[in-house]
Amino acid sequence: MKRIVVLGAGESGTGAAVLAQKKGFDVFVSDMSSIKDKYKQMLNERGICWEEGKHTEELILNADEVIKSPGIPNDAPMILKIKERNIPVISEIEFAGRYTHAKMICITGSNGKTTTTSLIYHIFRSAGLNVGLAGNIGQSLALQVAEKNYDYYIIELSSFQLDNMYNFRANIAILMNITPDHLDRYDHNMQNYIDAKFRIIQNQTKDDAFIFWNDDPIIQRELKKYGIQAKLCPFSEIKENGVIAYTEDNKLYFTEPIAFNMEEEELALTGRHNLYNSMAAGISANIAGIKKQTIREALSDFKGVPHRLERVKTVNGVEYINDSKATNVNSCWYALQSMTNPTILILGGKDKGNDYNEIKDLVKEKCCGLIYMGLHNEKLHDFFDGMGLPVADVQSMKDAIDAARNMAKPGETVLLSPCCASFDLFKSYEDRGDQFKACVNAL
Ligand code: ADP
Repeated sequence: MKRIVVLGAGESGTGAAVLAQKKGFDVFVSDMSSIKDKYKQMLNERGICWEEGKHTEELILNADEVIKSPGIPNDAPMILKIKERNIPVISEIEFAGRYTHAKMICITGSNGKTTTTSLIYHIFRSAGLNVGLAGNIGQSLALQVAEKNYDYYIIELSSFQLDNMYNFRANIAILMNITPDHLDRYDHNMQNYIDAKFRIIQNQTKDDAFIFWNDDPIIQRELKKYGIQAKLCPFSEIKENGVIAYTEDNKLYFTEPIAFNMEEEELALTGRHNLYNSMAAGISANIAGIKKQTIREALSDFKGVPHRLERVKTVNGVEYINDSKATNVNSCWYALQSMTNPTILILGGKDKGNDYNEIKDLVKEKCCGLIYMGLHNEKLHDFFDGMGLPVADVQSMKDAIDAARNMAKPGETVLLSPCCASFDLFKSYEDRGDQFKACVNAL
């Protein structure tokens, strides 16, 4: 019996173990940290052996294949030992892909993955299709392949998941954009990160589609390197050569395979970045054969995803928006760009080597106040104080909201779009966004 070892018992690892057992492998799960109770229970119920707080070499290095959680870096000591012995290391998505004939719609990019993935899922569900949502969101693909029987999967793929994918084939691959992120995991080499993102098109055939943002300079440059077999489906805000979705006179046009259009103002999601997300989602639904009327309606009635430009409440004429998921400077750029009122921006946190020059002009244009919220706000002071805007320095969400309330006048917007990770003051970006909403709702 072939032995599969799963490293990391989170959502993807546990799902992979369940599927591997169902497919008749000898399965062992090992996690260096402690395993959550819910996953222990899933493993115990099925009699799958596991360990936590350690990696026992004798139980791991006898594997025929290893499934690695995307959270474990490729240069972790145990992974290096596994590779020394030439044991193949794959991702959970690669493994699950072997056991399903469902159509795979896969989304990657530096920003916009979750929004676009959720939007596509919403359109496919609205069309009554038998569809699962997987990858970074919801249940793992492997668990769904083991226990459900979907015709389509909409899968959000991070670069880490793509790293260990080799034979997996996306029927529809979507690449939203590429801007620097996670470089610490890629030897601080941007090209390594770009190559990981482009793995989304590997194994695509002429029957498949590759949807991408045509105006991304990195995507444009890299496209030329590959002999891409799939049908190219570029989208752009402007009507350029070959694009199959674009805007003109405040309308959004889709040209292929079925041509249709809709008013931009009918879109549920606002902001330029969400225009791109709506285009990518609309194209994929169009290719899947969903009726244009259904696509239009679903693009209009989508409820949005929490912590992404989420409108919380208007208090005393001041609107509060939670964009806690903006954990890099580029996503804050798009948030600011979509602001229509003078904006008090709450930013700061764990800086990943940010270059704030990217948002400097937009801060000048859109902001009427800045609130620095982090354990170390010196870099923010150094960069922004010279602009002459009112600033406040805080170390908790409650203080941030108090400062915002004091600064804001009716007709203004308070935007939490931090540019940074949350781990200095919060458990996660969700915790940061939830605290923002709780403080606002208590006003
Ligand atoms: P991801 O899953 O890639 O992190 P999300 O959909 O969760 O992306 O959005 C994260 C943040 O990125 C949002 O808060 C928004 O400010 C910004 N964003 C969303 N879509 C895009 C896009 N297409 N281009 C640039 N920024 C975006």
